[in-house]
Amino acid sequence: MQEKIRNIRSEFTKDVEAVADIGALEDLRIKYLGRKGIMTGLMSGLSSLPKEDKPAVGKELNSLKHYIQDQLQQKKGALSRQDKKGSERKIDITMPGILPHLGTKHPITQVLQEMNDIFISLGFSVVEGPEIEREFYNFEALNIPLEHPSRDAFDTFYIKGDILLRSHTSPVQIRIMEKTQPPIQAIVPGKVYRPDAVDASHSFMFHQVEGLMIAKGIKFSDLKGVLGLFTKRMFGEKTKTRFRPSFFPFTEPSAEVDISCFMCQGKGCRLCSHAGWLEVLGAGMVNPRVFEAVGYPPRKYTGFAFGIGVERIALLKYGIDDIRLFFENDTRFLEQF
Ligand SMILES: [Zn+2]
Repeated sequence: MQEKIRNIRSEFTKDVEAVADIGALEDLRIKYLGRKGIMTGLMSGLSSLPKEDKPAVGKELNSLKHYIQDQLQQKKGALSRQDKKGSERKIDITMPGILPHLGTKHPITQVLQEMNDIFISLGFSVVEGPEIEREFYNFEALNIPLEHPSRDAFDTFYIKGDILLRSHTSPVQIRIMEKTQPPIQAIVPGKVYRPDAVDASHSFMFHQVEGLMIAKGIKFSDLKGVLGLFTKRMFGEKTKTRFRPSFFPFTEPSAEVDISCFMCQGKGCRLCSHAGWLEVLGAGMVNPRVFEAVGYPPRKYTGFAFGIGVERIALLKYGIDDIRLFFENDTRFLEQF
């Protein structure tokens, strides 16, 4: 029995030396220490030995078992260190790296942020509101009653009953005025929806930045000052503005605002259709009926409002002639910004 134990010991020593990977080491562990392994066989042979031999043989068996466990553990450590070294060697730090594909901000987002930054620097705060609105906020409170012919100009996506997709960002102005007493100085950027057939200059969804300034004694000249600063920062210091009389139900008086063409400096070119001017936004003094709708005391405050189409500004700024390019998600187009 004792000779058998010595043979197994030397056999195991040879086996463990020959092992080259973790998998083979595990096989070896099962061969010697597994439930049906060599050690189990030896242990069960112990019971058939004469009583006086049992303690000495038992002791030797225990020592063999510990020897096997120790050797297996050491070999495992050596193998895993070797593995680590091997994988380190596989990395060639002189190889050129693989650049991940970086996206860019969408041109509309870039223009929107630029516009926001200009108005923030002029003291405006940024307010957002719901895109799903009620008729009251989208129309009635803005002096556009149901039977009024001006409602025809505002084709609208209705969802259910008096719930609709807002056709302009102006309903947020009403929400601001309902909650806040003047002075108010805020801009409202966001998406708006109109059931327009899609072509080079129309989309069923586009972006607006609406502005609102209300306090005691706000005048039309304040509006001209703010918009003059905005257009200069957006299109260059030489930009001139021109106000033409217009009509909006929620402002009185109302104006369309043009800027001098930044391509030809007003001389006339293809961009401005040889007019020298480009139409960029609508504005006016807030109609007293709007103040009435939100419950402000009569004749106490005055204010102005303006609305700017973000796509319109982006088309002009980048010299793009088709609004659909913004929404087709063609990366060849988007990567240029
Ligand atoms: Zn021009």
